[in-house]
Amino acid sequence: MPARRVTSHTIANSEIIFMADDKLVFRRDAIHAYCRALFEKAGWSPRDAAITADHLVAADLSGHPSHGMGMVPAYVDAIERGALKPSNTLSEKLRAGALLVLNGDTALGQVAGHDATEAALKIAGEHGIALVNLIQAHHIGRIGTYAEQAAAAGMIGLFWVNVVTTRPAVAPFGGREKRYGTNPQAIGIPRLGAQPFLLDFATSRIAVGKTRVAWLAGRKVTFGALLDRDGRPTDDPNVIFPDSTGAVTPFGEHKGYGLAMVSELLSSILGGGETIAESRDKETIHNSMLAIVIDPAKFADIAGDWRARVERFIGWVKSSAPSEGSKEVLAPGDPEFRARAEAGDKVSYDPGSWTVIADAGRRVGLADAQIPKPL
Ligand code: NAD
Repeated sequence: MPARRVTSHTIANSEIIFMADDKLVFRRDAIHAYCRALFEKAGWSPRDAAITADHLVAADLSGHPSHGMGMVPAYVDAIERGALKPSNTLSEKLRAGALLVLNGDTALGQVAGHDATEAALKIAGEHGIALVNLIQAHHIGRIGTYAEQAAAAGMIGLFWVNVVTTRPAVAPFGGREKRYGTNPQAIGIPRLGAQPFLLDFATSRIAVGKTRVAWLAGRKVTFGALLDRDGRPTDDPNVIFPDSTGAVTPFGEHKGYGLAMVSELLSSILGGGETIAESRDKETIHNSMLAIVIDPAKFADIAGDWRARVERFIGWVKSSAPSEGSKEVLAPGDPEFRARAEAGDKVSYDPGSWTVIADAGRRVGLADAQIPKPL
């Protein structure tokens, strides 16, 4: 397979050390069509396959390949094991005023996350606020997708998510045995004439998917992002892939550890989702998500020019002179939107990741002609 050299590449603010690299470059539309075809072949409706492709390709373009097409082989594994249902069967467990609890029923998570967020936007439009708890969806991907969805509708969205498997990934602050997942959070705030404020991160020092990307690419991660089996800090992704003997560490020490526990508890306890301590299903990965969506329009009489004030504040913060080694102060979301603008109509994968992404299509029965070729 021909490889094209691209310049030194950093995945957003990731903890992976990336050097100049050989990347396979594809047309974005070709990857999107491939992803749609793959999920349709696996049993999803054209609508649901398209939502999934939008999500995964946007994650790649935003500099988060850990939650882009690189997840497809794991989803195909889950389909083959019967641990991911080719359906979109959100069912209501509770509806009361601004409260809604939806059961994701181990169906495709990107669609469940999208539809739960749509439901939250509708409720917030009516009540000014929505509290929607999606429980037991299959892996819902990049949580910032939902924060962007809320911001695109002019709403503020806050999301807390747990990761339920029988194999925890993260050691608590002060511990070496793994006790919970990378429990992400995301917050989106619409902006005036600019892409939204978008804060979206795992509460671990590194997302497990980024450890996978580093492992597949033969790279190290930042020292201390991982612990080996004896609890010693390391930069070697082999302690996580292929056999998980080591652990990921929390970001921000005791503070990130505390936020991870908040994500676990808020996303699961009221709506009846599992916490990781209760995980029973060895075969699958579940995300539960608590979404709070606020409609700023309901504050119109008192909020005044709140959007202009957001811009004033962000401008004020970004006007701080750069520290040593920094070119400028960025706002949360800037790295993702810049990465997308730079990627344009192309998307690239390291050869190791692409091999398994292409193989996933063959495994669901796509013909070789349906698998995109690099430019
Ligand atoms: P990360 O460490 O790259 O942090 C990303 C966040 O930090 C973004 O909001 C970004 O805009 C901001 N940021 C980055 N550099 C910045 C800078 N210089 N100045 C200001 N802001 C900056 O992200 P991560 O922790 O590796 O998470 C990656 C993705 O993984 C996220 O999209 C997350 O939702 C997803 N995730 C999903 C799951 C799941 O189970 N579904 C679990 C963990 C993580």
